[in-house]
Amino acid sequence: MSRSTEDYLKLADRLADGENLTDEELAGILLSEDPEFDAYLSQEARRVRERVYGKDVYLRGLIEYTNYCRNNCRYCGIRAGNRNAQRYRLTEEEIIACSDAGYELGFRTIVLQGGEDPHDTDERMSRIIRRIKERHPDIALTLSIGERNKDSYQRMFDAGADRYLLRHETASPEHYSLLHPAAMSYEHRMQCLRDLHEIGYQVGCGMMVGSPGQKTEHLVQDLRFLQSFRPEMVGIGPFIPHHDTEYAHCQPGSVRLTLRLLSVIRLMLPEVLLPATTALGTMDPKGREKGLLAGANVIMPNLSPTSVRGKYLLYDNKICTGDEAAECIRCMTARVSGTGYQVVQSRGDHVRYDADGESPA
Ligand code: SAM
Repeated sequence: MSRSTEDYLKLADRLADGENLTDEELAGILLSEDPEFDAYLSQEARRVRERVYGKDVYLRGLIEYTNYCRNNCRYCGIRAGNRNAQRYRLTEEEIIACSDAGYELGFRTIVLQGGEDPHDTDERMSRIIRRIKERHPDIALTLSIGERNKDSYQRMFDAGADRYLLRHETASPEHYSLLHPAAMSYEHRMQCLRDLHEIGYQVGCGMMVGSPGQKTEHLVQDLRFLQSFRPEMVGIGPFIPHHDTEYAHCQPGSVRLTLRLLSVIRLMLPEVLLPATTALGTMDPKGREKGLLAGANVIMPNLSPTSVRGKYLLYDNKICTGDEAAECIRCMTARVSGTGYQVVQSRGDHVRYDADGESPA
């Protein structure tokens, strides 16, 4: 169906009013080529984000502590089958030192992210979590270490972990099985997300934009999933090919579509914590600033030691692989100010959680 600019603007108003659009209307929004609509949609998304979170931007200090992974996601540069990846694993002491350095720099959320490293037993992870939380009780600790069983998630939560990022990758089982080998299951990933919520984590899910085989209808399914699951955080970024994967020659995802999705997600889930991702900054030098202006309110600078930065390569041409953490935070603070927003030193919890990260529910 062809729509006029006026039709599109009405769709944006209805989204901003919390109306539930039809699949066809959502698909129309994603497929629009109308620049006036883009501008209006992002303005509405900013209005909603400012109503909930003001002009604040939360920083998350990201420690990419291992690139060992037992999985073979077809799109990912650190997949187990990539023999060219230079593997590394930070020691417990190195992880603690990074989080101390992050705290000194003002971070009040630390994110531990890694491949699914068989070395990461519940004992090791719980010990690391406890040690970090003992040293810095006022931070939020986020984990992003993949699929585990509910008991394991519970043990890490009991040790002090507050949040968990596990992108659902795609809400279509068929598309999921195209992107992943048969050993990985859509049902299990979704079960993990439900388990995490039940335990009490603030949960983040999300998808790549423009991943191989992705159709507009898949993105509409993703939006429907986000609407029903109601995650506290949503991480989306463009798919970017990695030269050592079978998708090396695929087209990367579009920055414009990623920005539009950020705005749509902000309007659908006004309270969500929404990062402007490194992948967005990799595809466009101003990608993260554009993400903030499209409704995002979180930035995740890298805290990993520079000696390993260049080895956590999920995709080609990743930015910020050479900068010291202090330099990253200076650079991001300046970039954020340039958008009219401000970096704040805060845990930056979802509004449904109080200052201790407790859910009132
Ligand atoms: N192992 C954990 C997991 O599975 O959630 C965390 C690490 S995983 C590498 C983090 C995210 O990177 C994935 O959820 C995926 O969406 C993203 N990613 C992987 N390869 C990518 C690529 N080629 N382009 C863009 N994003 C990618």
